[in-house]
Amino acid sequence: MSCDFMAQATPGVQGLHPYEAGKPVEELERELGISDIVKLASNENPLGPSDQAMAAVQALLADSARYPDSNGFGLKQALHKHYGLEGAQLTLGNGSNDVLELIARAFLQPDDEVVFSEYSFAVYPIVTQACGARAVVTPAIDYGHDLEAMASAITERTRLLFIANPNNPTGTGLMREELTAFLDAVPEHVIVVLDEAYTEYVAMAEFPDGLALLPDYPNLIVTRTFSKAWGLAGLRVGFAAATPVITDLLNRVRQPFNVSHLALAAAEAVLTDADYLQRSVEVNRAGMRQLETGLKQLGLEFIPSFGNFITADMGRPAQPVFEALLRAGVIVRPLAPYRMPQHLRISVGLPEENDRFLQALKQVLAC
Ligand SMILES: *Cc1c(COP(=O)(O)O)cnc(C)c1O
Repeated sequence: MSCDFMAQATPGVQGLHPYEAGKPVEELERELGISDIVKLASNENPLGPSDQAMAAVQALLADSARYPDSNGFGLKQALHKHYGLEGAQLTLGNGSNDVLELIARAFLQPDDEVVFSEYSFAVYPIVTQACGARAVVTPAIDYGHDLEAMASAITERTRLLFIANPNNPTGTGLMREELTAFLDAVPEHVIVVLDEAYTEYVAMAEFPDGLALLPDYPNLIVTRTFSKAWGLAGLRVGFAAATPVITDLLNRVRQPFNVSHLALAAAEAVLTDADYLQRSVEVNRAGMRQLETGLKQLGLEFIPSFGNFITADMGRPAQPVFEALLRAGVIVRPLAPYRMPQHLRISVGLPEENDRFLQALKQVLAC
């Protein structure tokens, strides 16, 4: 008789579905034997990495036999210069996904409750369930967070609450006034995780900067990433900013060498590359207009987006549209896993990539 390992897994893990990532270009090449593929599926920066970041990586390749600085001193100093954050407020992560997991591991026990919204980032239910905690999912309002519903869902068992601003996969945004009114209403025993993976793309006076809110809310954790506007998704680096007490707890469960020396150096270098960030934002703004115009011309509705992606309603089941786009060499993201079976999420690419997508979509929809 063989052992039933499934039954031996923790109850949370038994019920888990792994994260479904955007399809890699190489996988589609293998499957269909095609080349010249455009990937607009993972909200990556279409510019490729900053030259300064690449130079920093190349200069450090020869150090690869050594462990990285487990405290990330250089990057923390750069974050201090750039954002005014103190080292005692910073937890570095192997992508911000890593810090989301550290937060869950530090604070969640079985039967604790975690509040997040319908149509929010798929990693929140995964880290919640992996710890055996209970997800309390509030209904969305216009595809975004219903903060009243989230506040009402809080009980004395609530430990964490996740909010992405801008939100992925819908691109919606919360303005400063509604967010601070909500934070004022949240009891202090609930830790609010404000995931600002796309915040660099937003240039609006009314849009909140979570880092600026930290002094007012000791129960707030802000997470940021170098994967999107900073163009370092492949190197894996992000961070959490919070009070020193919370930061100390997160660093207790952090792997000692969770961020590689190359990722640390690249992030440190790109923070000084203001020109790169500006180009990222400008390319995104122009590409967003291009996609919005093209989608309108096709008669398709979309959700206005604050991020570097746009989510559009195909007006029919989106899975066959997704598959037909794959055969045309265009990878986008179907949102059935988010219970949005008619929607596709398209990352903003370079002008020619956006055009390839729009042309392919036009042909697919005509069939
Ligand atoms: C892309 C994304 C992240 C960042 O993931 P990394 O692990 O930093 O690459 C975090 N949160 C949301 C909502 C995202 O869309």
